[in-house]
Amino acid sequence: MTHAYIGLGSNLDNPGAHITRALDELAKLPLSQLIACSARYSSRAVGPGDQPDYINAVTLINTELTPLQLLDELQAIEQMHQRVRIEHWGPRTLDLDILLLDNQIITNKRLQVPHPFMAQRNFVLYPLADITPNLILPCGTPLSELLANSSHDGLERLKNEGASCERNV
Ligand code: ATP
Ligand code: CA
Ligand code: CA
Ligand code: CA
Repeated sequence: MTHAYIGLGSNLDNPGAHITRALDELAKLPLSQLIACSARYSSRAVGPGDQPDYINAVTLINTELTPLQLLDELQAIEQMHQRVRIEHWGPRTLDLDILLLDNQIITNKRLQVPHPFMAQRNFVLYPLADITPNLILPCGTPLSELLANSSHDGLERLKNEGASCERNV
């Protein structure tokens, strides 16, 4: 059984509804259980052009899927949301990133864990801390230390409406 933290993001076509549906779909993943969800956040988009704000959240699941099986499942969910890859970091209906898998370090062509940019992203660090404030990353760095060096810039904590988690925080 692996603890998997998954980052969710959407900035197209009613983002809140995509996040709500994605939480339902994550709850139904095979060989897995949804354990916890963060609050939702709005964040300013990074990437090309003038894009709408994102809604972001993080969930924790327990899973017996292998890392690549989990990636396949998450990409299948993205496909169900009609995600179209037009340009790198372009707007999208749903983005599901694997942030952490216990203390595993994976450097595969298709999958890098911990997610390579997570330490620099406030829209990942704050929701992670909602779930597990005392988290230590596989490199040994406490989440609290990353948060201390991270700004709130462009990030706003939203009310947790319509989430479908057993244990919302
Ligand atoms: P970023 O990685 O900066 O958040 P992105 O989410 O926009 O960018 P995508 O276009 O969604 O990037 O994904 C590109 C590829 O990244 C995927 O096809 C997948 O194989 C690969 N990838 C590598 N590591 C991970 C991970 N930890 N979680 C999800 N996808 C990953
Ligand atoms: Ca992309
Ligand atoms: Ca991403
Ligand atoms: Ca992604």
